[in-house]
Amino acid sequence: MTADGEIARVRTYLGSFRWQELEPRPYKEEGNAAFRNISRQVLFDEPTQDCELRYFEMEAGGYSSLERHQHTHAVIILRGRGQCLLGSTVRTVAAFDLVTIPGWTWHQFRATDGEALGFLCMVNRVRDRPQLPGASDLAALKSSPEVAAFLSP
Ligand code: MN
Repeated sequence: MTADGEIARVRTYLGSFRWQELEPRPYKEEGNAAFRNISRQVLFDEPTQDCELRYFEMEAGGYSSLERHQHTHAVIILRGRGQCLLGSTVRTVAAFDLVTIPGWTWHQFRATDGEALGFLCMVNRVRDRPQLPGASDLAALKSSPEVAAFLSP
């Protein structure tokens, strides 16, 4: 251990998007956001760093919460295929695509039917809480037929 409390270590990859001594956790423990079939592993979270790296995985048909916040996300798709709502657009994503989600951009990930979707997400260690859409936000988002189809598959 260094003076900063950091521990040198290797967590061996176990296959199937699992790493030694890391247990997948439920996506969120609190809040009332709608989400389905998604788990989280925190890969890196060191007190001396300003960022965290997490691995999220949603089962086939699963999705993350529809939200926005001040902080940004940097995402690398690692597994599978799916769709991503980014503001007023819907993009198809697949393994090794890079997704940048600026602050205050509505976003949601959705796994393609029949296939899991997994991604790395880098985020500020200290960050604001996500906002969920209200009725007027949803109405504005759904003014795009593409987004409406994404939100109500
Ligand atoms: Mn987010």
